[in-house]
Amino acid sequence: MAKNKNFESALHVNKGVSQPSSINEKISKAMINKKKKELTIDEYVEGILSGNRVILSKAITLIESSLPNHYNLAQQIIERCMPYSGKSIRIGVTGVPGVGKSSFIESIGKHLTEKDHKIAVLAVDPSSEISKGSILGDKTRMEKLSVDKNAFVRPSPSAGSLGGVARKTREIIILCEAAGFDIIFIETVGVGQSEITVHSMVDFFLLLMLAGAGDELQGIKRGIIEMSDGMIINKADGDNIDKANNAKNQYQNALHLLPKHHSNWMPKVLTCSAIENKGIDEAWNMIAEHNKLMKKTGYFRKKRNKQKINRMYETINQTLSNNFYNNPIIERKLQVIEKSLLNNQFSAYQAAHKLLDYYFKDIEK
Ligand code: GDP
Repeated sequence: MAKNKNFESALHVNKGVSQPSSINEKISKAMINKKKKELTIDEYVEGILSGNRVILSKAITLIESSLPNHYNLAQQIIERCMPYSGKSIRIGVTGVPGVGKSSFIESIGKHLTEKDHKIAVLAVDPSSEISKGSILGDKTRMEKLSVDKNAFVRPSPSAGSLGGVARKTREIIILCEAAGFDIIFIETVGVGQSEITVHSMVDFFLLLMLAGAGDELQGIKRGIIEMSDGMIINKADGDNIDKANNAKNQYQNALHLLPKHHSNWMPKVLTCSAIENKGIDEAWNMIAEHNKLMKKTGYFRKKRNKQKINRMYETINQTLSNNFYNNPIIERKLQVIEKSLLNNQFSAYQAAHKLLDYYFKDIEK
């Protein structure tokens, strides 16, 4: 039957005016595409190795995720990237909030990207766990560096214990190195154990300080000064220049009293102005000089190897301890034994061994 274009009948539903979709079509299409575009492991790895920052970011999101399937996928990506990692200089930057860590990293970062280095900036900020608010993450940070095509700025994972954040940061370092970033800054804030954690994952540990805050050695724990490979008095500008130079001399004298580093490196004290870009070249020269000496004397490899071995033991200790405390028998017995301990029925040593006996008997079953 020939079709009559103008045919109209009660049985025929004529086309009405098309209604706009209740969902924005562009968005829904994008969502469908996004759903379809789950990357394969090969795509992740190839993307990372070719320096694709969007794919690198996606892989980091997997590392930060708490979903078990993301974790497994992330582990496979990390394993494949491992052979391409390890080639960067890892620099830890610490100092009290407000000392100028972000400004300094932005300034030295720009200095380095202009010299064709590729910079990644990561952060370890357990303050979010302690104070329920992040010190590093909430600020608009490193505006120039974060739009620099040779830089990659990633805030600290917002959830998790310091141990968890540290593990994730180490894994992110591997991916960033595989993506070709040759200088990695890891910023942290002087809260709790975070400096010690960051120290355990870097080649150069830099302490930023302020001048003229009363007793020059107050506020910063002695241990942190002992751990540092270099100190820089920031904000050496305007009226602050003389004070900064005095502080520099005082710290330099104080450092001479500390035991020598095994590597023969003598930690240096410099001044800089992150805002005015002064002393930034010298800051980089110090780090580069340290790196050269460490590589020449074999300490670079030695330190990295030691860090790897420590990490293996840390992981074993952590896993065993979690397994112990999550054991149902231990969960039941813990309070009872604690009570007996407080009633002087057992010594702390005996109490611990009673619990360990329960645990080992249970896992031997
Ligand atoms: P962070 O908390 O350690 O990361 O410190 P920021 O980089 O956010 O800096 C804290 C404040 O100090 C900001 O207002 C900066 O503008 C300022 N600041 C940072 N570096 C310098 C510097 O070299 N000189 C001066 N005068 N101010 C600075």
